[in-house]
Amino acid sequence: MKITFYGAARTVTGSMHLVEANGKRILLDCGLYQGHRKEAFEKNRHMPVDPQGIDVVVLSHAHIDHSGNIPQLARCGFRGKVVSRPATRDLCEVMLRDSCFLQMRDLQYVNEKRRRQGKHLFEPLYTEEDVDAIMRRFECVPMKRQHDLGNGVSLVFHNAGHILGSAIVQLDVREPGGKSKRLVFSGDLGQAGQPILRRSECPQGADAIIVESTYADRLHPSADDVSGRLKSYIDDIVRMRGKLLIPAFSVGRTQQILYFLNRLYRAGRIPAVPVYIDSPLSMKATEIYRRHRECYNEDSCEILRGGEDPLSFPGLKFLETPEQSMSLNSARGPMVIIAASGMCEGGRVVHHLKECLGDMRNIVLFVGFQAEGTLGRRIVESEPGERLKLLGEERAISARVQTINALSAHADRNGLEEWIDGVKGDSVKKAFAVHGEDDRVEAMARIAREHGIPETYAPVPGQSFIV
Ligand SMILES: [Zn+2]
Ligand SMILES: [Zn+2]
Repeated sequence: MKITFYGAARTVTGSMHLVEANGKRILLDCGLYQGHRKEAFEKNRHMPVDPQGIDVVVLSHAHIDHSGNIPQLARCGFRGKVVSRPATRDLCEVMLRDSCFLQMRDLQYVNEKRRRQGKHLFEPLYTEEDVDAIMRRFECVPMKRQHDLGNGVSLVFHNAGHILGSAIVQLDVREPGGKSKRLVFSGDLGQAGQPILRRSECPQGADAIIVESTYADRLHPSADDVSGRLKSYIDDIVRMRGKLLIPAFSVGRTQQILYFLNRLYRAGRIPAVPVYIDSPLSMKATEIYRRHRECYNEDSCEILRGGEDPLSFPGLKFLETPEQSMSLNSARGPMVIIAASGMCEGGRVVHHLKECLGDMRNIVLFVGFQAEGTLGRRIVESEPGERLKLLGEERAISARVQTINALSAHADRNGLEEWIDGVKGDSVKKAFAVHGEDDRVEAMARIAREHGIPETYAPVPGQSFIV
């Protein structure tokens, strides 16, 4: 079996690894590289593998950095299947359309400028039709079910505990001569103890592993009391008749917040305040989270058995149209608004920020990582009273700005060490660290070595290995 690392090699995004075994060419993930516009566009446009030569794509999960370039495969003559868990298929359907929409919007802006400069116009990476075409190629495989890919190659999905449908991929290859080889690809690994989803598992008997390194060199802050803090903020906005604005990613984080609000409400710890989910993608993603109960952990299954939906409670409303969204601007609190995007780089959250930040009765609560250079990061690092320009208007920050750091979707160093200990057994001879910048993948390779795996690597793009 030969593995070539094409994406998420010494970087985080653009996950893509090619496995060649028994004459089959299997692509593990086919994600979008995300970075500066021009570089990202070039990288994503020029696929390092010939789509017509790929037999099958296996998706670990639906995040765009893992699935976002599959429509371009369809555009370039890919004739195989895309194999994933059912929840990943459903999330891909809405996330790829959203990705398509955002790219088109971006391109329109770029092309407008190019037109004025008399330069040739860019074509989109892919269109809605390409998304339609690739969605028809999906084949869903449930957890733990062995699925034959032909030529003596099969796969099994295990829980990764990262987002709904996220999987660890186990590939088994029966080589000529009867020997078998097993490769385990971690995908993105979740943090233990997160709500809703089952935690990550440790498949046994691998000869080689590909492991993510997102937080290989850091520890998450010790468990924050998420429920307790949410309750105190809701008590405050009820008293002040204010708004609690939570910028949140549509897939994963929004549903986690709904879960905590559900628990607080059912335990009688908060009153039934109106809670608005203000993002079409968040609404669709929540629908999909509700549908795929096979992904739920024991605690959420118990809630279901009690006749309740863990993502629902009185007062919860989904806002579909921009008009509904804008109508909240003049509405009086108390209310909770959960809106995307999570880092405030666009989406409806921006007009809510403009409306909320200047009023001391309101609270803006960040529940996810804010990358450098984003509006979210600027607000998190702002001083009270600081002035900020939002949608062309200046605002002095009077609202309270708070951050909850406990909700990372990725395992930290402890979680990754635990996973390595769980999978290594006596069999794992090689470990490949991916999905991290240089220092992270090197830290992960070091961890794997310290935990007894003899050969560890942090591959560079295009590097191949025989397993
Ligand atoms: Zn992910
Ligand atoms: Zn990822």
